[in-house]
Parts: sequence; C-alpha cells; structure tokens
Amino acid sequence: MVEIDKIGIVGAGQMGAGIAQVCAVAGIHIVLSDVSEERIEAGIATLGGNLKRLVERKQLDEATRVAAIDRIKPARDYDDFADCDLIIEAAAESEEVKREIFAALCPALRPDCMLATNTSSISITRLASVTDRPEKFIGIHFMNPVPRMQLVEIIRGIATEDATFEAAKKFVARLGKTATVSEDFPAFIVNRILLPMINEAIYTLYEGVGTVEAIDTAMRLGANHPMGPLQLADFIGLDTVLSVMQVLHEGLADSKYRPCPLLVKYVEAGWLGRKTQRGFYDYRSGTPVPTR
Ligand code: NAD
Repeated sequence: MVEIDKIGIVGAGQMGAGIAQVCAVAGIHIVLSDVSEERIEAGIATLGGNLKRLVERKQLDEATRVAAIDRIKPARDYDDFADCDLIIEAAAESEEVKREIFAALCPALRPDCMLATNTSSISITRLASVTDRPEKFIGIHFMNPVPRMQLVEIIRGIATEDATFEAAKKFVARLGKTATVSEDFPAFIVNRILLPMINEAIYTLYEGVGTVEAIDTAMRLGANHPMGPLQLADFIGLDTVLSVMQVLHEGLADSKYRPCPLLVKYVEAGWLGRKTQRGFYDYRSGTPVPTR
C-alpha cells in the first residue's frame, strides 16, 4: 500500500481549499492546482485565514499553523504532481470538466499514484474509466466545510482494488475523520437524501407555500435542523445543487428528482449562493437578506 505523504489537489474552491487545510494540518504535503494562479492564491488565502482564526480561538497552536501553511505549494501545471502519492480532484461538479482533468493529468503521474474524486454525485466507475488506472481510482467525498464536518463518504468504483480502498480508509482516519462506505449510485448516501429535500424546499418557495424566511425558520425550529434548507443550498452552491439534482434525475430516471425551475433560474442568473454573494439570500451588505 502506498504511504500518503504528498497529495495533489485539483480545484482550489471551497472544497479543494478545505481539503488542503485539513491534510496540511495532518502533516501531509500539498500541491494545489486550479485554472489560474489567482484562484490558487485565493484558495490559499481563504485557508490561511481559517487557520489564523483557529489559532485565535486556541484550537490550533501557532507552530502547527506555520508548518501547515509551509506544506502547501501552488502547482504551475500537472508536472508538479509527478511525485504525489494521491490526487484529489475537487473541481466544479461537471462530468465533462472532471473527465478532461483526469485524462490530462494521468500522463504526469507515477504509475502507483492513486486517484480520488470529491464529486457529490457523479459515477466513480465512469470517471475511473477515462484514466489509465481504474483500479487505483476511488471516491473520497468530504463534506462542507471540510475542517468542521466529521464525515467522509468512501465510494468504490467497479474496478477499485482492495488496496486502494484500504489506503483511502487509512487516509480518512489519519485526518481524524469518520468514513462511511457507499455503493456507486447517483449522489451516494448523504446527497441522495439531502439534495431532494433542498430541491423540495425550493419547490415550496416556487409554489408560494412560504417565503425564504418562513421555509428556513420552519425547518430550523420545526425539524431542529441547524440551518434552513435554502440557507444550506446557498452554502453548498446552487450550481452544485443543480448538478447533483440533474445527476439524480438522469441517473435514476425518476421524475421525483426533477430540478425545480426556480433553482435553474437562480443558476442561470449567476446567483450561486454565498460564493457569488447572492442566492436565496443577498450577502452583499454583510447581513443576509432574503431575495424572495
Ligand atoms: P467551487 O466552485 O467553490 O470550486 C471549484 C473550483 O474548481 C473553482 O476554483 C474552479 O476554478 C475550479 N475548476 C474548474 N474547472 C477546473 C479545471 N479544469 N481544472 C482545475 N480547476 C478547475 O466548488 P466546490 O464547492 O469546492 O465543489 C468542488 C467539488 O466538490 C464538486 O465536485 C462538488 O460537487 C464537490 N462537493 C461540494 C460540496 C459543497 O457543499 N459545496 C460538498 C462536497 C463535495
């Protein structure tokens, strides 16, 4: 089994940066890539800010913060992944984007380097099939925000070898997180259950049953959810929510997964939630204001 000491991460957005943060704190070296240097720098700045806040709250010591930051390096191109033991892909939730990434990066890797995707919904078996090593390919699905969420779903593709599965479990344990195993079906376990609930909340808004505030208050105080479903949708990113619903709808061919037209409209407007400052709430003034 390959010892995981150095990881390449593709995608420095909310998930890629969070994964880089927890891995670096656990003593693993990171090479971080994205479509531009600016995106990589923004990812490193975000996680740097998170680590500083942890030190201020005395949840991390300063020496660990400095060592963790020092372990994270930007990638100029995939050749910088040449000595990695594992690559974790955390780019946008699009099968086309992910396929292109895996096809492009494989030639740069050591033959024993493992591949993982953080996809929320896309078939692990299909993504593995575009690589030269489907037996070393696995789904390692972190939750958002990565530093705070305890669970990681592990998903084997049809060709995933036992050694890859064992290495993934060991890696998750090293990060101090709990792994749960899901079979390779659309959206796995957490999102198979959670995303249709969010989509239903958007239908509830679309049909005028309640306002944004009424729906979120109802589920926070009526079902004891820590966050309302529309607040959570903004947190996840509405583009990701829509992609997951499309994968469920197409993959399971059941109309109960039909993405709400209002969700489509928000995504078409570029109102993607917190990451673009506007979604079901407007965050631009600092205080979230419902947009409907
Ligand atoms: P995000 O939009 O914050 O970040 C995605 C990043 O990928 C962006 O920085 C973008 O520039 C980059 N990217 C796009 N195309 C790329 C390419 N060809 N090469 C390199 N980088 C590229 O999205 P996110 O929320 O971090 O989601 C990333 C992945 O993690 C998705 O697959 C998503 O489904 C999954 N995920 C998301 C959540 C969530 O709650 N947001 C939770 C678990 C898993």
